[in-house]
Amino acid sequence: MAEFSIIDRYFKRASHQDVSLGIGDDSAILTPLTSQQLVICTDTLVAGRHFPLDTSAHAVGWKSVAVNLSDIAAMGAQPHSILLALSLPSVDETWLAEFSRGLFECCDQFNVALIGGDTTQSSQLTITVTALGWIEQGQAITRAGAQVGDYICVSGQVGDAAYGLHHLGHALQQRLDYPTPRCDLGQRLKGRATSMIDVSDGLAQDLGHILEASGVGATLFLDRLPIDSALKALDQQQAWQYALAGGDDYELCFTISPQKFEELSRHQSDVPFTIIGEITQQTGLLFKYMGEVYPLHVHGYQHFA
Ligand code: ADP
Ligand code: MG
Repeated sequence: MAEFSIIDRYFKRASHQDVSLGIGDDSAILTPLTSQQLVICTDTLVAGRHFPLDTSAHAVGWKSVAVNLSDIAAMGAQPHSILLALSLPSVDETWLAEFSRGLFECCDQFNVALIGGDTTQSSQLTITVTALGWIEQGQAITRAGAQVGDYICVSGQVGDAAYGLHHLGHALQQRLDYPTPRCDLGQRLKGRATSMIDVSDGLAQDLGHILEASGVGATLFLDRLPIDSALKALDQQQAWQYALAGGDDYELCFTISPQKFEELSRHQSDVPFTIIGEITQQTGLLFKYMGEVYPLHVHGYQHFA
């Protein structure tokens, strides 16, 4: 099957209302509002490295979009569209059909259009998605604004995906295969959160990026980490490693003043969020358990370690 038939059959759909030119020409065209800034990111999934080789094509399609929308959400932006660069070892139509079904399910859930891409042959299955989103000028939430005295919050639960990876077949594998980008919460945090990151490489490491970019430190309360009952049943040290070092959660970690937190809590969001710590002057990450300092060593995921 030729490249063009693959695109037509599996990836070309009726164009979205606010896409000026979609799939089919040399480039896509969007027409931004002058009041907005373009927010753009890209993420690659390599088979066997970013997902187990036997992950369903449907889940791979979903996840390749979801991880990118999570990065858009982590800026407070509204996702708009994606581009898809696909490297396939062979043309497996059953796989392609399921992959595109999963991809569009995620696109449709968040009202995102596929506006272009590239399709090539290569020995390794690799999927690169580029996501585009919009945000009002100057409203983006970076990693750099955390202030001493801010609460540190995280959405949903942490450690689910890592648990799922080590217990394939358990219900939490769903959280590994079908992460939910927190697009609604991300946008609600505009004008409220002082900094934000999405948790892809483990909470401790990703929070570390906020601390470094903001030039502050933090205390994390181990007894407040929002974890699943499956993790609570584990040895505590093991549960903390999943929660703090496990990757692939795609929850939002943000800092916010106590006053803005009250304001935020008055409204419903797509997902609950929990205060797990506070920003401190003294740099570094300090753990506390039951009110006492607790020495704990955690590692996040390192791609080139
Ligand atoms: P070019 O050779 O000019 O780079 P292509 O032949 O690669 O163009 O692609 C033709 C059209 O199909 C372009 O609009 C491109 O964005 C789109 N396209 C190619 N591959 C994909 C894909 N996997 N998903 C979505 N759109 C794609
Ligand atoms: Mg091309």
